[in-house]
Amino acid sequence: MSPAEIAKGALRRLAQSRQEPTPDNFARAYAEEAGQPPPPDHRATGAQWAGLIERLVRGLERGSRQWTPARKKDSLQRVLEGSSRDAARLQQRLQSLLQAWDNDTPLEGDAGAPDASPLVAAADGQWPRVTRSLQSALSAALPSGEPRAAELADELALLAGRLAAEGASAELVGAIETATARAQRLLGHRHRLFDDLGRLCAELGAGLVDLAEDDSWARGQCELLQTQLSSGVGARGVRTATELLAETRERQRRVRDERAAASRALRDLIQRLLGELGELDDQAGRFGDSLGQHAEAIARADSLESLAGVVQALVAESQAVGQHLSKTRQRLQQDHTRAAELEQRVRSLESELRRLSDEASTDALTAVANRRGLQQAFETELVQMARSGHAAGASAPAAAPTLAVGLIDIDNFKKLNDSLGHAAGDVALKSLAAAVRDRLRPVDTVARFGGEEFVVLLPATPADEAQQVLTRLQRELTASLFMHDGREVFVTFSAGVTAWRSGETLDTALERADEALYEAKRTGKNRTCLC
Ligand code: GH3
Ligand code: MG
Ligand code: MG
Repeated sequence: MSPAEIAKGALRRLAQSRQEPTPDNFARAYAEEAGQPPPPDHRATGAQWAGLIERLVRGLERGSRQWTPARKKDSLQRVLEGSSRDAARLQQRLQSLLQAWDNDTPLEGDAGAPDASPLVAAADGQWPRVTRSLQSALSAALPSGEPRAAELADELALLAGRLAAEGASAELVGAIETATARAQRLLGHRHRLFDDLGRLCAELGAGLVDLAEDDSWARGQCELLQTQLSSGVGARGVRTATELLAETRERQRRVRDERAAASRALRDLIQRLLGELGELDDQAGRFGDSLGQHAEAIARADSLESLAGVVQALVAESQAVGQHLSKTRQRLQQDHTRAAELEQRVRSLESELRRLSDEASTDALTAVANRRGLQQAFETELVQMARSGHAAGASAPAAAPTLAVGLIDIDNFKKLNDSLGHAAGDVALKSLAAAVRDRLRPVDTVARFGGEEFVVLLPATPADEAQQVLTRLQRELTASLFMHDGREVFVTFSAGVTAWRSGETLDTALERADEALYEAKRTGKNRTCLC
């Protein structure tokens, strides 16, 4: 066999045994295919695995500044999922992960732990710490789901480890320069991709506006989507746009289903109507025939008695026809009413959707402000702050005006919907909105931002105070419940709080609050974080 044929056979073997075509795996498959002795096995022995697992367990137990236990578990899960098919790669990635954990600064009390990283111990002066934090920031920026990027992150971790342990040599510096240049290219490419995606979304948004029927609810939503995307692509903007699209699709589906059901019902009604008319026609024909027979019998009648019999039969038949006619009229009347009701239902549903889009500032379900109302309230606040700033300037210099912006997201809401139904979810949304509204001051704003997210604006409140307010609210809410179908339901939420910075838009402040919210979700939910 030629080397090319052997290589082809080796690739086939890898595909059949579902192994990744890594250099080691390929070398083994190639040797098998060529009938050669297997290449030396670089994979870990049992003892190496035991050591690795022991380090992992200790690493998971040990607290450190950036690597919280949850983050450690997440990353471990990702490595296990991503490399479970290839033992050598799994071992290599686990080692890199452990190195990254070791590189993090231990929490107070852990600093002198006997298992403190040899790299930390070797650290001498400030530079190794700087390099390590630069390396971990760069590794974190590399997309974790991409094998090429994951390899690069591993390589960077390895180089940073060597730099800390061995000190800088020309060879090592060269290798680091090459690796960071590769990272720079890869990240630059990601940035371009990101911009392209933003443009694609804007294009899609514009296309949707063109496609939506004039004057429809969907059109309003699509325009909102466009506005959202035109203010730049941030994590929050993208999520909001995604939610808007999902909500639009869901509502459109509901209207379409309602419409289809109404038109099916109308079609059935028309068919029944035609049946009734046909039956009426038959009966009129039968009645006409028997009238003819009765007329003949009357002409033939020779006595009063025989005439009486014919008249009785005539009266009975007329009564039967009369009754049938009145029943049919009643049924037709009912059908007509039902058809009118159906038509009305579809019409009111459509106008409700239009109203939801056009109607200024209130969320229909929770009766707190909607996104538009929130923007209005924010603008009013800006005017107020500008005014009070001037007023303060006239007398004595006062502290800069403050406005706290909080983002609230219900915890595990999907689970609640799935277990108790969408109606219970709606009740939870209403209860939460009312609870927040009732417990804040009249000058504060509560708005439903979409789905199960709410925004609060707390004027003249520093961010740390706002954090306390929301934490107190969380405690009160944890102790209360609402009833649904005779069952007690508890709802908790997580929140992120930030202080509005002079000159910035609400969206920018919300991006920051979203980061804090993410932190609150990541660190156990039912808590409020600050950013
Ligand atoms: P987490 O704690 O991480 O926030 O999890 P979660 O389940 O709350 O978050 P996720 O964003 O996955 O789920 C939000 C769910 O909220 C999904 C969606 O079906 C539901 N939802 C959005 N709007 C409404 C609504 O108006 N009524 C109801 N009942 N559910 C809604
Ligand atoms: Mg959410
Ligand atoms: Mg949620």
